[in-house]
Amino acid sequence: IITVKNLTKRYNKKEVLCISELNALHGRILGLIGPSGAGKSTLLRILNMLEEPTTGEVSYLQQPAPVSQTGKLQLRRKMTMVFQKAALLDTSVYNNVAFGLQARKVPKQEIRERVLAMLDDIGMLALSQQRAKTLSGGEAQRIAFARALVLQPEILFLDEPTANLDPPNVELLEGMIARLNQDHGTTILFVTHNLFQARRLCHDTAFFYQGKLIETRETEQLFTSSQKEQTRAFVEGKM
Ligand code: ATP
Ligand code: MG
Repeated sequence: IITVKNLTKRYNKKEVLCISELNALHGRILGLIGPSGAGKSTLLRILNMLEEPTTGEVSYLQQPAPVSQTGKLQLRRKMTMVFQKAALLDTSVYNNVAFGLQARKVPKQEIRERVLAMLDDIGMLALSQQRAKTLSGGEAQRIAFARALVLQPEILFLDEPTANLDPPNVELLEGMIARLNQDHGTTILFVTHNLFQARRLCHDTAFFYQGKLIETRETEQLFTSSQKEQTRAFVEGKM
C-alpha cells in the first residue's frame, strides 16, 4: 500500500535516513524498530507528507505521491498519525476527538455517536467536557489515539503511542490497534521501543540502525533468525 524506493533524507548535509526499498503491505501491521536517532520518526513524517525526502520516491496505493494541493489533501484524509508527544487542541476532550470528523463533514449526529463510543472504549466518557490541556500525560495520549482511531483511516502511523501509559492502558490500546487492523483492514506503521510489543502486534518488522534500513522481515523471523549481525545484537538487547 506504501512503497519507498531509494529514499534519503539529509538535514544540513547530514544523512539521517537511507532506504533502498521498503513496502508496507495492505492490511498488515509493520513495526519500525531501532535505537534512538535511527530515523524512525523522520520516516513517519515523510510518509505522512509532513516533510519531503531529499531524494527518492514514495508511492501510495499504487500511485506516485501527489504533487497538487488537492491531491495531497485527498491522500491526507486517508492517513492519520499519532505522535510521540500528544499535541491536543486547547478545547474540550470531546472537541478534540470530534475535530477530524467535523473537517470531513460527517453529519453531526453521526459524529456524536462515534465520538462518544470511542471515549467509552478508552474509558474516558466521564471526561468528555474536561479541557484537554488539564489532562494527565497518559490521558492526553489516549485522547490523541482516540482522535486518530475515530477517523477509521486506511493508513495509520503510530509513533510510540503507548510510551507514556501504564500497563492496563498499554493493553487497552494494543487491543484497539489490533481490532482496527482486523475489523477495518487498516494498514498500520508502528514505531516502538518495546520489542515485546512489536512481537505481539506487528506482522512484519523493519529494523533501522544509524539512519539505514537494515532489513524487513516477518516479525518472528526477524526476532529469531536474522542473518544480520546488527539486527541480532539489537533484538538480543546487546545494543
Ligand atoms: P527516537 O527513537 O529517539 O525517537 P528516531 O529513530 O525517531 O529516534 P529521528 O527522530 O527520526 O530518530 O531522528 C533521526 C536523526 O535525525 C537524529 O539524529 C536527529 O537528531 C536528526 N533530526 C531529526 N529532525 C531533524 C531536524 N529537523 N533537523 C536536524 N536534524 C534532525
Ligand atoms: Mg522518534
